[in-house]
Amino acid sequence: MVEIPKSHPRYWSLYYREKIINGMEKGITAKAGLIAHGRGEAFDYILGERTIKPAESAMKAAVAKLLLAKHPVISVNGNVAALVPKETIELAKALGAKLEINLFYRTEERVKAIAEELRKHDPDIELLGINPTMRIPGLEHERGKVDENGIWKADVVVVPLEDGDRTEALVSMGKFVITIDLNPLSRSARMAHITIVDNIVRAYPRMTKLAREMNDYTEEDLLRIIGEYDNEKTLSDVLVYMRNRLTKLAGEGVWRRKELDC
Ligand code: ATP
Ligand code: MG
Repeated sequence: MVEIPKSHPRYWSLYYREKIINGMEKGITAKAGLIAHGRGEAFDYILGERTIKPAESAMKAAVAKLLLAKHPVISVNGNVAALVPKETIELAKALGAKLEINLFYRTEERVKAIAEELRKHDPDIELLGINPTMRIPGLEHERGKVDENGIWKADVVVVPLEDGDRTEALVSMGKFVITIDLNPLSRSARMAHITIVDNIVRAYPRMTKLAREMNDYTEEDLLRIIGEYDNEKTLSDVLVYMRNRLTKLAGEGVWRRKELDC
């Protein structure tokens, strides 16, 4: 990886950009993944590269749902494996969820490269999606492949940085779908039952912490958290936050301030 000087004002942004490029060079990330990353970066800039309140409540509801799930599955794609391989494994363990490699641009080489990357962090980790035998109805061949013991039989699925069409197909299958997507306007964000509008590099460590904290909540507590959650309102709150922040930034001289609170 290219060395980025720690003193660079955009160090973290460049650091993750390098991870994505490196992921592509290792055959983990698809070329289209680079474009998706750039789109994510643009929305993160508008958020101020921080976890905002609506994302925090979405994460809490998502973790509650996952802790109550009978068969929770976390999907891993090329961008996720390049950015947060260790954090993905930690989250799955904290939730007792299974991991499935599930790719939009599926090739056996990419699946193998992603499995290798994940196994660097835990050689014994159980990985589904290596030999998927089932197909999501409505999606043509490669795009629709899923594991019989994973997404196929899951009741709750986490599909981060996912394509809208596939999210919709999973919802139509009757799955409870949780997504992490920086774009609150994407079809995925609109289709999912719970949408966490945050960068996955912040969201996964936070969700792991929440999963550990909420592990001893009663079923009643968890059900209450889920019951109080409203995804449409959350997405609307995100847009209002973005609008307010942009309005503030557009105000005279405000954009020069170091801290921008909305
Ligand atoms: P859709 O198909 O849902 O309408 P899209 O075609 O714009 O969306 P995809 O490429 O299918 O987007 O999915 C990738 C999504 O992931 C994008 O919406 C992008 O904003 C988001 N994204 C990219 N990088 C990150 C990241 N690090 N954290 C969270 N979201 C991200
Ligand atoms: Mg798409």
